Amino acid sequence: MKGVFLESPGVIKIKDIDDTDDIPEGFIKIRVKSVGICGSDVHYYLHGRIGDFVLEKPMILGHETAGITESNGNNIRKGDIVAIEPGLPCEKCKYCKTGRYNLCPDIKFFATPPVDGSLREYIIYPEEFVYRAGGLTTNEAGLSEPMSVGVYATGKAGIGPENNVLIVGSGSVGILTAFSAEAHGSNVTLCDINMDKIKYARKCGFAAFLNDEIHDKYDTVFECSGMATEFAQNKTGKGGDLFLIGMGNTSGLNPLYISSNEITVHGIFRYSNTFNDAIKIIKKYRNRLKPFLEKNIGIDNLDSYLKNKEYEKYLKTIVEL
Ligand SMILES: [Zn+2]
Ligand SMILES: [Zn+2]
Repeated sequence: MKGVFLESPGVIKIKDIDDTDDIPEGFIKIRVKSVGICGSDVHYYLHGRIGDFVLEKPMILGHETAGITESNGNNIRKGDIVAIEPGLPCEKCKYCKTGRYNLCPDIKFFATPPVDGSLREYIIYPEEFVYRAGGLTTNEAGLSEPMSVGVYATGKAGIGPENNVLIVGSGSVGILTAFSAEAHGSNVTLCDINMDKIKYARKCGFAAFLNDEIHDKYDTVFECSGMATEFAQNKTGKGGDLFLIGMGNTSGLNPLYISSNEITVHGIFRYSNTFNDAIKIIKKYRNRLKPFLEKNIGIDNLDSYLKNKEYEKYLKTIVEL
């Protein structure tokens, strides 16, 4: 079978890898059909590292994965459309034992060096982390990974119809978080500094504005841009909650503002126990999620797609295998 490897920064190679029908107990074989390209894939392609995770040998890219099963499990039947959760936790540490397995220090997460990702024709994977997504297309099912980030953060926030929610950053994570917040019944506004991103949020049916046009304060603010923590803090009202989803931000928070307004700041790292809810939300909003499905490419086009920075033009690009 074929797999798409990042050999070194800027170098993509499609290589043959061994295929097997030797499926261990508790595992499922999946024919991968859809892998969404994420900012982290692009980042590894450009720089060969994210923080302490450094590409030291060729690695298969991709972690936003859906496909069709080729074997039977306990709940999953051959031929099911499924989404794959990309992180396999150790299931032994204190975080795993308390359900916070996103914090597991030994988690093996697709396309995070040295763990290979999902851009390959077949994967044999624990059934426990494979989710049925019948009724969705494989491309829609693949959105359950980025949707999970929003499901997790909005679940932690405990928001409801009484809450005014602001989402700072209208990229794919921001918009998917907006869908999750709306699913809780909250009144949702998005903002960004980039008009193209605002247009995408509006295309998905949301109220979206330039940052400069946001004058109100909100009960709950989700910072999804990774670049506007201070702005997001200043839009969080008295007694409110600020969730930091975007990574890479270096601008500071103001302890005086936080304490005098009694704001609670929450860090968010990936997600846990979210995929079934993510799939439900995708089903609910599938018509409004169409802008996420506009750009599809084959594995042979990925190299030129990355070289030409085409990802800058689309809300989401999906590699179809
Ligand atoms: Zn991702
Ligand atoms: Zn663990």
